[in-house]
Formats: sequence, structure tokens, C-alpha cells
Amino acid sequence: MTTIDSHMHIGLDGFNADSIIREMDLRGIDQSWLLTWKELHPPVPELHMDLPAEPILEACDRYPERLVPFYAPDPATENLKDHFNTYLRKGFKGCGELKVCRKWDDPLIGTYLELVQQLHMALVFHMEVPSLYYIQEKEGYVQWIFERLMNDKYNGVSRYYLTRFAERTGIWKKKISRNQVQFPGILFDFEALEQRVKEFPEIRFIGHGPDFWNGIGAVRHPKYIHQKGRIAEFGIIDGLLERYDNFYCDISGTSGYNALTRDKDQSRIFLQKHAHKVLFGTDNTRFPLMQLLESMKLGREQLENILHRNASRVL
Ligand SMILES: [Zn+2]
Repeated sequence: MTTIDSHMHIGLDGFNADSIIREMDLRGIDQSWLLTWKELHPPVPELHMDLPAEPILEACDRYPERLVPFYAPDPATENLKDHFNTYLRKGFKGCGELKVCRKWDDPLIGTYLELVQQLHMALVFHMEVPSLYYIQEKEGYVQWIFERLMNDKYNGVSRYYLTRFAERTGIWKKKISRNQVQFPGILFDFEALEQRVKEFPEIRFIGHGPDFWNGIGAVRHPKYIHQKGRIAEFGIIDGLLERYDNFYCDISGTSGYNALTRDKDQSRIFLQKHAHKVLFGTDNTRFPLMQLLESMKLGREQLENILHRNASRVL
């Protein structure tokens, strides 16, 4: 069965053009979309990684049958329209990954979406809620461990309990507040997103990321980065997928895999219901996503939609 990986990066986790092709051959992936990550002034540089357009073009020149180039310039880029046109002429096929610390109701995002619609591009975007990010105070192993425990280690659970402990006992309280910075979050305002989806019906919006996928369930606990446990009731993304023809999602990354494995019975129902809207993707991870999909015993047509038809259609 043809498979398209709709969410892949070059220069992330040690992947270069050749190793991406090797990995694709190994996993039976026919084609991968390569996405950039551009933010001109990331507010917390520790949480940003520049993934530029040029290495993507080089890779796609070498493997034109296998790789599809995507580019999402920062919305604050000067002469954005000319910039987009220049890159479209260079061969870019879509806009992604849009992953900047702005909200959907930002006027710059409005201007950006106007261009994306005019230029008939699909848009891959990331969503992440604001958080406090702990910056390692000094060099050293113990300090490093503390930094890990205060950030994304154990899916946020260690941060949750360490913060509560510090608040109750006063121990580490000053150390924590001295070294924490506010991360403003990425495109996390769902209500404004819905307005944008309505406002720009020609754009195929493809969502992913922790905040997006936590929206598979109606309930969220502050303890977790990626929500765990049973999905008693479907959340906001279920309604968006249902209501808007131009709204899609990709199941890539830890966020996608987590959402599909935390409650397999419910995620099977979710995939069956939205099989015409879900795109297969890895985001450089090596989760057994293909096996997971096979184990869900979806209909052949549903599986084909997820593995490649939806991706071809939105392009
Ligand atoms: Zn990504």
C-alpha cells in the first residue's frame, strides 16, 4: 500500500537526505513531506530549532520522486508575498510547519493566511499551550537532571510535583522562580482557529502538536504535557473535523502517537469517523505507528485514506 509521511524534517534528530531515504525504504514509506521551522525571534531560544528551507530544496532536487518540499516563513518576514512567490518558484508545494509563538487572532496571522489562500497552499501547523520553561542554572550533571525534571521529563509529571513540593515547603522555591521563563505558547487559541478555518475555506488546515492532540479528549489535567488515560468524551478537534471540510490533522510525533494509544478503543472510533481527514506522519519519531494502525482493523479504504489518499488530496 502506498504510504506518504506528511510530517518530516531534515536536520532534526540527526536526519539528513540520505538517512531519510534509508529510513523510508526500511519502513515502506514512498514519499515524505519535508517541513521547515522558521521563527525570526523565538522568545525562548532553548525551545526553538532553526530548520531552514535550503537543505530541503537540495534534498528534494536529489530525490524528486520521494521528497516534497514545504516551507512556512515567519509571518513577520518582510515583503512576505514576494518571499512566498520566490520560494514557490523554487519548487515548494505547501506551507509548513507553521510553529511560531503567536495566536490565531494575531493580525499578522490574518495577512499570512490571506497569502496562503491566494497561493492555494495547504497549511501544516503546530499547537502548544503557554508554559513555564526552566533554564539550567549552572553546569553539571545534577543541575542538568533538575532541568530535565522541571521541563518535559516524565511527560510533565515531575515538574508538576516538584512545583507543588516547592510551593508547600519553600524548598527550591526561589531557585525555581529565579530560573523559570514564560513560554508564550504556539497558536493555541482554538476559538480563533475555528474563525480562521471559516474565514479561509480554500486553505486545507492540517493540525498537530501537543495542544492539538490533547483536544482529542474533553478533559485535561495540568499534570501532563501529553494527556493520559481514558477518553470519556471526545474534545474540540472532533467537532472541528466534523464541521469543516478544510480541517485535517496529522498523527505524527509523540503527541499523535500518545493520542492514539492512550485509549485504543476510542481512538479507533475517532480514526474510523475521521479517516478522510487524518494524515499519516512521523515527525522524525520511530514509533510503531504502522503496526498500530494495522492493529486497529480499519477498513481498507479508511487505511488507504490515512496512509496516502488524504495527503495527495490536500496537496
Ligand atoms: Zn514537526
